[in-house]
Amino acid sequence: MNKLAALQRYFGFDAFRPYQEEIIDCILQNQDVFAVLPTGAGKSLCFQLPAILLDGVAIVISPLIALMQDQVDYLNQQGIRAAFINSSVAPYLIDEVLADLNQYQLIYIAPERLVQARFLSCLKKANISFFIIDEAHCISQWGHDFRPEYRSLNLLKQQFPNKAIAAFTATATQTVNVDICEQLLLKNPHKVQSSFDRPNLIIRIIERDHLQKQILAYLEPHAEHSGIIYAGTRKGVDELHDFLLAKGLRVAKYHAGLSEKERFKAQRAFMNDDALIIVATVAFGMGVHKSNIRFVIHANMPKSVEQYYQEMGRAGRDGLASECTMLYHYQDLLLQKHLAKTHTEAEIIDHQEKMAEQMFGFCSSLHCRRIDLLGHFAEKYIHDRCDACDNCLSETKVIEGTIIAQKILSCVYRLKERFGMNYVIDVLRGSKNKNILGRGHETLSTYGIMAPHGQKELQHYVLSLIQQGFLQISQGEYPLLQLTPHSRKILKDKQTVFFRQKKHTDKKAKVQHVDYDKDLFAQLSAVRKAIATKAGLPPFVIFHDRTLIEVCIHKPHTQAGLLQINGIGEEKLKRYGDAVLNCVKGYCTPPL
Ligand code: ADP
Ligand code: MG
Repeated sequence: MNKLAALQRYFGFDAFRPYQEEIIDCILQNQDVFAVLPTGAGKSLCFQLPAILLDGVAIVISPLIALMQDQVDYLNQQGIRAAFINSSVAPYLIDEVLADLNQYQLIYIAPERLVQARFLSCLKKANISFFIIDEAHCISQWGHDFRPEYRSLNLLKQQFPNKAIAAFTATATQTVNVDICEQLLLKNPHKVQSSFDRPNLIIRIIERDHLQKQILAYLEPHAEHSGIIYAGTRKGVDELHDFLLAKGLRVAKYHAGLSEKERFKAQRAFMNDDALIIVATVAFGMGVHKSNIRFVIHANMPKSVEQYYQEMGRAGRDGLASECTMLYHYQDLLLQKHLAKTHTEAEIIDHQEKMAEQMFGFCSSLHCRRIDLLGHFAEKYIHDRCDACDNCLSETKVIEGTIIAQKILSCVYRLKERFGMNYVIDVLRGSKNKNILGRGHETLSTYGIMAPHGQKELQHYVLSLIQQGFLQISQGEYPLLQLTPHSRKILKDKQTVFFRQKKHTDKKAKVQHVDYDKDLFAQLSAVRKAIATKAGLPPFVIFHDRTLIEVCIHKPHTQAGLLQINGIGEEKLKRYGDAVLNCVKGYCTPPL
């Protein structure tokens, strides 16, 4: 069977996406490949299709055991022979799979299993077509999700020198790229790197002033949508989850402090659209293939731009317009720096601190988010603005603020650089806080000199002065606000200071919105949910939203018409074609 015929027959797609064919050709010629393609680009197909076409069984190494199940269900649904091996599978079932490896086209396996002598000897006896390393950035210490078990994957090339290895990731800086190829001992790999841009994602990064209020306000118009809310700590997850639950939302939670069973249940509920929202720590998400995640919210700033890119990228895998919103605060940076210090190697601490600072710089930037984000991966955005991020959609004005800066700096000076940001702001605003009165700070000349300004506004000025290098935060146990060598120029009236202010407008984000019949969609969703429940599978494994939307647009009445829809191949047509056609026909026929 040729590539295109297999694409249509097994996957129901009629054309390859960019880079897919190139990667598939390499694998078919037994050449090593290293591909960096963003989430939603269609990396899985790049190895699933050659696995079907080639003789023998392809071995997929994937880090998250809980998600192998979805991938394997999805493949089985399409008539592809696949199985997985990990700690969730009963030993006798693993034995069964291992006893007859050659009957499969794909085997998913966790890295720590693969390196065990017993598995290696089975693999030696099997007819292997090639190896796949998914989420390959896990092998690098410089990446954002290092997994020590990935280190031993160098034995693949040593033990199977004639088998091609295809490594895939969505996120990698240049350093990580080089590291991956070296660690895996890839032989002159064909490298593919596409743009990091995800044009269907709308990016917003906003200062956090009242987390619960901000989240609730955001969720209100998104009641029907599925999304992930990332919080920085387990406690943060618990609190936000309980709060949203009490507000009557369908929400689940996920973090490493829960039992395996609880995590599994939460994930299932989310995958099955029973819980529309999941509140989670970073522990959740890698390999989550739910395609209709319409929003990702960050309640805290992640530890690096790469991690942020990876997490926000889980939205809109199906290519439909989706929103990524981060709420950040200066406290987040302090926390990340604090966490960096828990490492033992000085080099790692330094690296992590730098990453956190870069991330914070990114948050507080007033440039187009897309340009900044792509720039982080050394990519130049083709336009000079994206019109789909908060900065492009808001107006910024620059104000001259030398006097404001002088007032703030002299207050820091009078407090002898021994207090934190909030205290300084309180003094400037003339707070009657008993700490201030107890220390006699109400007698300072700067006490109350900025009383008419709001707390938020002052905070914005202070943060901006930090970014401009006129103030700094001390590194000790308590973060103190201190002067820098540049502060003097301002206090001596030798330098003018500018502040930028942002004002939100009603401009609409420029991303492609598709128009379709929402009532028919709801009916088709119900049909899909019924099929999914009966089969014990997540709805998106039966059909992606995108496929149902195409059905709504074209309203096919025949099997041939249905086959034209992206995502419906012969196997799916056979299994569910009638149910879909009946639903469409019923909807289109006016009642008698
Ligand atoms: P990645 O692993 O790169 O994040 P996936 O492999 O999960 O992306 O694919 C994302 C989505 O794109 C899936 O819904 C998949 O079915 C779809 N897809 C992949 N290849 C094609 C194609 N050639 N045509 C249409 N849809 C595709
Ligand atoms: Mg993938």
